[in-house]
Amino acid sequence: MITRKRAWLLCSLLVVVLGTVGTLATCGSGGGDVKLYAFKCGILKTQTQYMLKDTRVGTPMDIPVTFFLIKHGKDWVAFDTGNNAMVAKDPVGYWSKPVVDAYTPVMKDFDEFKLQVKKDLGIEPKDIKCVVLSHGHLDHAGAIDNFAGLKVPVYMQKKEMENVKAELEKFKTTGKKTAYIPEDFNKMKEIEFKTVEGVFDIFGDQSVVAFPTPGHTPGHQSLMVKAGGKAFIIAADADYTLENMIEAIPPGLAWDIPQSTQALYTFKIMKWLSPSVEIVPSHDPKYWEAKGLAPKEFKI
Ligand SMILES: [Zn+2]
Repeated sequence: MITRKRAWLLCSLLVVVLGTVGTLATCGSGGGDVKLYAFKCGILKTQTQYMLKDTRVGTPMDIPVTFFLIKHGKDWVAFDTGNNAMVAKDPVGYWSKPVVDAYTPVMKDFDEFKLQVKKDLGIEPKDIKCVVLSHGHLDHAGAIDNFAGLKVPVYMQKKEMENVKAELEKFKTTGKKTAYIPEDFNKMKEIEFKTVEGVFDIFGDQSVVAFPTPGHTPGHQSLMVKAGGKAFIIAADADYTLENMIEAIPPGLAWDIPQSTQALYTFKIMKWLSPSVEIVPSHDPKYWEAKGLAPKEFKI
């Protein structure tokens, strides 16, 4: 159980470590039970050094792609979306050969965000109150087109949105795809993108709180969820695997290595302060092997 004192300390720590509370906007009101559900959108076949910088270079590593839904009272929130559906049909055409060579996707049609949430939880994108994206990379923002034409707000940190736009501009001149796939943002104008700066307390009750963890990308954010008496930190790519955090090994792919390392230490400090806090890594094969996916609730 999280004691009140520990929860208070954790929240205070977040503010101290991450700076000022920047965003007061909420996407729903407080109250009600919170439940957390995890999904897997196939795997990426890669090599260890892309996940753990300079570590076991050349060793194959199959990593899960994950995304989450949180039920808060009657409201649903999505954290990330997994890959675009086109990745199941034509990965090289959609992501490009260099990207697929580094991260070869194994994804089926039924792994798409909207199909999984319908099958496992009986909901559709239009039923979701808001979406929070950790960052704009292909395996996190890939299925954001599922929200095109819907009045569902999709929140990113302002710095991440600026970076997405800069990457889209860069692509126009280089024609070279990176982890930001231009086609993922083709329907950008039909999606209710909104930006936040700093800590974003989604329901205003400190139960589901996004907070900046830059380093992997300029505007990366992670998500704190208090569900079923437990505290979860869904790190997204601020912590690929538990080894990254435990050994303080930055990710192989990072916009800024010192900031990536600082994010890992933020998680370590949370764990030191409150060992019951579950740090949830985005792509850790061993961690995810043992974890229950939706329709089961995500439990420690
Ligand atoms: Zn990722």
